[in-house]
Amino acid sequence: MATQTKTPQTAIELVPNPFQVAQQQLDEAAELLELDGALHELLRWPLRELHVTLPVKMDDGSTKIFHGFRVQYNDARGPTKGGIRYHPDETIDTVRALAAWMTWKCAVVDIPLGGGKGGIICNPKEMSDGELERLSRAYIRQVGRILGLEKDVPAPDVYTNPQIMAWMVDEYSFLKGYNEFGMITGKPLALGGSAGRGDATARGGIYCLREAGKVLGIDLKGATTAIQGYGNAGSFAHKLGTELLGLKVVAVSDSRGGIYNSKGLDYEAVMAHKSKTGSVVKFPGAEALSNEALLELDVKVLVPSALESVLTDQNAPKVKAKLIVELANGPTSPAADRILYDAGCYVIPDFLCNAGGVTVSYFEMVQNAYDYYWQEGLVHERLDAKMTAAFHAVHRAAQEHQVHNRLAAYLVAVSRVAEAVKLRGWV
Ligand code: GLU
Repeated sequence: MATQTKTPQTAIELVPNPFQVAQQQLDEAAELLELDGALHELLRWPLRELHVTLPVKMDDGSTKIFHGFRVQYNDARGPTKGGIRYHPDETIDTVRALAAWMTWKCAVVDIPLGGGKGGIICNPKEMSDGELERLSRAYIRQVGRILGLEKDVPAPDVYTNPQIMAWMVDEYSFLKGYNEFGMITGKPLALGGSAGRGDATARGGIYCLREAGKVLGIDLKGATTAIQGYGNAGSFAHKLGTELLGLKVVAVSDSRGGIYNSKGLDYEAVMAHKSKTGSVVKFPGAEALSNEALLELDVKVLVPSALESVLTDQNAPKVKAKLIVELANGPTSPAADRILYDAGCYVIPDFLCNAGGVTVSYFEMVQNAYDYYWQEGLVHERLDAKMTAAFHAVHRAAQEHQVHNRLAAYLVAVSRVAEAVKLRGWV
């Protein structure tokens, strides 16, 4: 890990390695910020990572061996923070990239935390609750030694949820011999969770979109919107986008496909259909469309809320949306960023746009530390203040440096992390 990897510049962008993307994005910011060589090199790599092998008893009596990771990218500004993903395609490089983005995410909203991420290679859709519980506890038995409210604090991410956080905090508390609820966030309310954590990622993104509408002079009431992904972030974006801004959501999708209705899709009805059938597809009265087609729909607002690398140089020229609300982590490749910027599309970049989740996670840690809990209204108010300030800091940086919003967000975040690294005397 000591040598610097160069990202190959090719004419056609192949499916990008997310960690190389994260490094390439940092490189661009480092150049503009004129970071010195050692500081730049330090920020290109995780400070620590742990690879674990997890034997889990399956329901059929067999034992299956799973592999997992925890990456602590940078803790100059505070304990590392970031979710744990359960995904069949998880790799150490996706986890490294996500941990890097967490570092910039916590810095851009100016909360006193560093960045980390975890992952287990598994397919939770094919596992029973009992198997998931045993896997989650096995992960904590291995990774618990590097976690803790003052060291590294996980949270939910793709295919993990409050129940999984509950098993994890329980396992950790047994290892320690006392309850330490603040070692993980996104917990159920009964175990020290925070009011307002459930929809916080989408809510933060919707607050950013509201602010973008103001600075761009775009009326968002009735604005046609397409949402890719219908997990926690995407489904709450449908609900809150409609409730708070009056968006007209005409298309949504999940991993099985998408649905479209030019008259708009009702959140409650789509959610009821998904709960019943397990997917949004075949929603009555809607046309079927693919995930790829959804990204190219003629809508005003596009909300990628699923996985990384969905907008590349191949499809970015076909995107018609005026505003992109990136609730997913890493949905847009560097080449696509430039194409969208040149086309005048306003991208609210991932680690700003989806920072609402970790912001309320931070509020959860604060509440756990004081053992005193806030009303939901106060959480919303404090989240709004954080997101609004971060949005305008990034918007201002983009104007000042004449760069796209992602690079502007990097300028704001990296300079904060760099300052902490320098003050601590690391470089
Ligand atoms: N997994 C979420 C993210 O990517 C939340 C992280 C957290 O709350 O720590 O931002």
